[in-house]
Amino acid sequence: MSWLERVRERLPFGNKRESPDNLWIKCPRCQEMVFRTEYEENLSVCPRCEHHGRIGADTRLQQLLDQGFELLPAPKVTEDPLRFRDSKRYTDRLKAARASNPHADAFTAAIGTIEGQRAVVGVQDFMFMGGSMGMAVGDAFCNAAQRALDERCAFVCVTAAGGARMQEGILSLMQMPRATVMLRRLKEAGLPYIVVLTDPTTGGVTASYAMLGDVHIAEPGALIGFAGQRVIQETIREQLPEGFQRAEYLHKHGMVDMVVNRHELRATLAQLLEYLSPAKAA
Ligand SMILES: [Zn+2]
Repeated sequence: MSWLERVRERLPFGNKRESPDNLWIKCPRCQEMVFRTEYEENLSVCPRCEHHGRIGADTRLQQLLDQGFELLPAPKVTEDPLRFRDSKRYTDRLKAARASNPHADAFTAAIGTIEGQRAVVGVQDFMFMGGSMGMAVGDAFCNAAQRALDERCAFVCVTAAGGARMQEGILSLMQMPRATVMLRRLKEAGLPYIVVLTDPTTGGVTASYAMLGDVHIAEPGALIGFAGQRVIQETIREQLPEGFQRAEYLHKHGMVDMVVNRHELRATLAQLLEYLSPAKAA
């Protein structure tokens, strides 16, 4: 037995047959190899450079909500209304996305408490077709807002999106005013709406519900913008400043209220919900 095997036996390296791809994660920013368990225990934040990795809807809900939250049912919408096809059929793209994701579309919502503060939390999952906003996302968003209205509690939305779902054409763009109307209703009812902008939040989502919060929190390093940097640069024919469209830059220029590390996100939300609690206002 070599020294390496002896060391390996004593350390919790897991099943030998497990492929190295599953054991280690390469941080996209600092390029360090990090143990997957260490990385996940650290809320998918790189322990070396604090890079905030992208996480799925279920992980996010578990990180933010207290145990015992209830998932809201996924909406039923007409699928592929335009019978869209580019290099692949839209229905095939949906099938492929569903095969690698536990949810039927890119927006998942739940109701529960954050450190005891009641709230509906909606999460957009970038891993599902780039978090793109189509009818299913719009419906799930509106249902979540409606649930907050019914229960007279806050609505927290964690955004991540490449923009509108182009396979649904104008129908995807119509989700922007729909979401805006629901947020108006929340406002009229005096219920708080808090947005957590995560990497990346762009396009039509930024142009609607991602920027209509009472409070905007961003995760460190998150890319947040409407059009891409290259498009803007080519349009205005000017070099853009360093860090343009990143959370810290936007915070400095007043576009977001605070940049919060994922480790403090739960506590920060709980504190904000307590300040903005409708019960207190009444
Ligand atoms: Zn790193």
